[in-house]
Amino acid sequence: MLIFYLMIGMILFSFGDCYSYRKSKGMNYLTDRSRCESCGHVLKWFELLPLVSYLALRGKCRYCGRQISPRPFLSEVIGLVCGGIAYYKGFVALFILCNLYVLALMDQKTKSVPFVSCIPLLLICIIVSYMDLDLFSRLFGSLLISVPMSLLNVIKKDSFGWGDVILFLLLGYIYKIDIIYIALLALGIASLYALYLMGILKKTKEYEFAFIPFLFLGVLLYLLL
Ligand SMILES: [Zn+2]
Repeated sequence: MLIFYLMIGMILFSFGDCYSYRKSKGMNYLTDRSRCESCGHVLKWFELLPLVSYLALRGKCRYCGRQISPRPFLSEVIGLVCGGIAYYKGFVALFILCNLYVLALMDQKTKSVPFVSCIPLLLICIIVSYMDLDLFSRLFGSLLISVPMSLLNVIKKDSFGWGDVILFLLLGYIYKIDIIYIALLALGIASLYALYLMGILKKTKEYEFAFIPFLFLGVLLYLLL
């Protein structure tokens, strides 16, 4: 049974990786074929097997010999880990993680996320309402982080992206009061990263970085702890 969860996790994250990549490049994520990013050669099915193909090809394109981006491979490994989490925490956790991961990749690349890409999370909000309504706790969780963030945004323009605020609204609805742990974990990791940038790279000027990757890590750690 565990194998089944691991496979689903890997396939879902592999698709998510492909979706975010093609979406940010303005390609059609359903009809376009997977290609080598260097020479444009269309990849055959055996070059697209999760994990296996990348390892078998030693991370190089079979035609031009250039390095293939390790991103899809990493996505599959992360999918494997998230599949393992889903085995204990259920499929809802896997869908949340996968949606956040896709948004994190997009945020990282373009610093913006289209609202349609949050629709799976919105659907999960509806599903959890059916499973356990508890409306008061859910609304409380929704507003707990998103309201202070919105206020901060009004006081100091663009402290956070509005996309981050919407995500806290949705995740707060799903995780209720526990959203506070997720927020603390995400902010903690983000602060460490900011310190690293300032310390190692001497980036003292205000540096804008994508927050959703940290939110993804926050939820991941929350589910693991
Ligand atoms: Zn190539």
